[in-house]
Amino acid sequence: MSENSILENSVVYEYLKKKVGEEGILVIKSFLDKEETTDEEIAKVTDLKLNIVRRILYILYESRIAEYKRLKDKESGWMTYLWSINHKNIEAAIENEAKRLIRNLEARLKFERENMFYVCSCGEKADFTQALEQNFKCSVCGSPLTYQDSSTIIKAIERRISEVEDP
Ligand SMILES: [Zn+2]
Repeated sequence: MSENSILENSVVYEYLKKKVGEEGILVIKSFLDKEETTDEEIAKVTDLKLNIVRRILYILYESRIAEYKRLKDKESGWMTYLWSINHKNIEAAIENEAKRLIRNLEARLKFERENMFYVCSCGEKADFTQALEQNFKCSVCGSPLTYQDSSTIIKAIERRISEVEDP
């Protein structure tokens, strides 16, 4: 995966967005292709407040996606933190995330394949056993339930799985 296209991968994008939000994506974009940068530089480039940038960097650091080096200025004694992205860890994290997603999708797929559903125009949903117990009438509004063809859902899940497997 090339460094610039990493955010074009939908699994990567969703994973990072869930972790650090839209602002976090901006932060990552701002130093993805840089060797090293400082929090102040990131704040300037992204137009985000320094404390927000720092919070995001800390989350990225905890997930081992970002790391820092400390440099001490000999004259002033001030510390400078130089941040960089750990591309190897980002890919490992993404691989785990993809595996987790696929596991969930496959469980969902199995469930949809093994169960028949009945739906009502009000939005209620019942499985076969429930529908049978309710005489194929909605438990909320009493309207007749109709059998839901799950092939569209199944196809959508299958498509999503192949997207995650081969982004
Ligand atoms: Zn209903």
